Amino acid sequence: MLQVPARIGGRPVSAAEWIEVRSPWDGAPVGRVPALTPAHVADACAAAAKVLERRDFPQHARAEVLERAAETLTERVEEFAVTIAREAGKPIVDARAEAARAADTFRFSAVEARKLSGELIPMDASRGGAGRLGFAVRHPAGVVAAITPFNFPLNLVAHKLGPAIAAGCPIVLKPAELTPISAIRLVDLLVEAGLPGDWISVVTGTGPETGTPLVEHPVPAVVSFTGSVPVGRRIQRIAAGKRVLLELGSNAPVIIEPGADLRRAVAAIRRGGFAYAGQVCISTQRVLAHRSVYDEVLGLLRETVATLRLGDPLDERTELGPMISAAAADRVADWLAAARAAGAEVTGGERQGPILTPAVVADPARHLDVYRQEVFGPVVTVTPYGEIGEAISMANDSEARLQAGVFTPDLAAALRAANELRFGGVLINDVPTFRADQQPYGGVGDAGNTREGPAYAINEMTELRFVSVSA
Ligand code: NAD
Repeated sequence: MLQVPARIGGRPVSAAEWIEVRSPWDGAPVGRVPALTPAHVADACAAAAKVLERRDFPQHARAEVLERAAETLTERVEEFAVTIAREAGKPIVDARAEAARAADTFRFSAVEARKLSGELIPMDASRGGAGRLGFAVRHPAGVVAAITPFNFPLNLVAHKLGPAIAAGCPIVLKPAELTPISAIRLVDLLVEAGLPGDWISVVTGTGPETGTPLVEHPVPAVVSFTGSVPVGRRIQRIAAGKRVLLELGSNAPVIIEPGADLRRAVAAIRRGGFAYAGQVCISTQRVLAHRSVYDEVLGLLRETVATLRLGDPLDERTELGPMISAAAADRVADWLAAARAAGAEVTGGERQGPILTPAVVADPARHLDVYRQEVFGPVVTVTPYGEIGEAISMANDSEARLQAGVFTPDLAAALRAANELRFGGVLINDVPTFRADQQPYGGVGDAGNTREGPAYAINEMTELRFVSVSA
């Protein structure tokens, strides 16, 4: 099996044990990466601390690296897309879109590297400050520990590396053990584009063996984590004294008001609820349909979902591929069985090898996992409501609130929803499953505590230093 080394302080690293990466579709070998240990993590942190002492990677050079990396990635989209499709089981069309987006993430990061500055403070504006020149400058916050999930193994890595490079922070990256190869290839590409080799380390391994020691190590000043709520909460507890940036999960709702274009809404849910088999943090999960359109929405949804093309992620026609693991598919199948047992009408949700067929659950009880938890599988629930205030309360009734969508032709209803939905993002006439890489992206409550998007992440990875000059 192809051996893909990790990287510490600019050098390739292997280990006594290896982690085999296999396609979730057919188990075909993709490659193997070393299972690193806490001692390797300590080496990577020490290397990053050394880099921080140097001041030899100025803003213009950081911007140029990111610009070159964006161009090369654009030329090599197909190669990266195939790696994503193989290790993550993501349909190739979606994998291509992810690779193209990662290049954009670097482009937006390059802009931030060029713009990074500070601000002038009007010292004269207070009696005590008069006579001084005051300004605040952004400095790198220190070493960034980046921990990433399996589901966007390239673009979510880019969302950590791009802003960290722009900010001037050395990085220790811990990619998901299920999908580490896209991340390692991306780091290779950055180094080829001119990133000093010792600026970044990649520590491959499991959460407990490499993630936890990385979070606990005294060197990283910032821990930037994207992943599940329980792991995020644990990281927050053990990362005492560090800046902890969390991008976690959700059970994203979409509200469908009377008068909305139902075909348009249902077509959007077909993608938003089932793209990458629902393994997306903003996958559309809870459809809240006004009572007057509920039956029609449910019927149209069942009809359209049945037309999703299932199959091999490398097949151009595939819309819905395998789940990441048999265990993940079993968990979702169990939740669907519990919903059936509780009397909800469930269509789909059968195991076909590594695939779980797309499921629509009609009006489940609110305490059921398929409604209350993050399903992270190809499942959408549909629930009726009486008036928009009720729909907004139902949407807000979730611990983890990342993005919400509303379909309505009524401007007043749209503005009310935008005002009252307590989410990180509200999308009008769209599903919540939309992200532009330059937008502020993140959640509230259990969904997270920060905003990504290079212009926002760079603020989190820098700190303001105030300077006052008196003559
Ligand atoms: P996960 O939490 O299981 O793993 C994420 C990363 O954390 C992996 O690299 C893993 O090895 C590491 N990890 C696991 N245990 C750890 C520990 N004890 N200490 C340190 N690190 C540890 O998540 P996953 O299954 O890879 O990804 C799916 C989750 O990610 C979903 O909940 C999804 O909603 C969320 N997600 C959120 C966003 C967002 O931007 N908000 C984006 C994508 C995915």
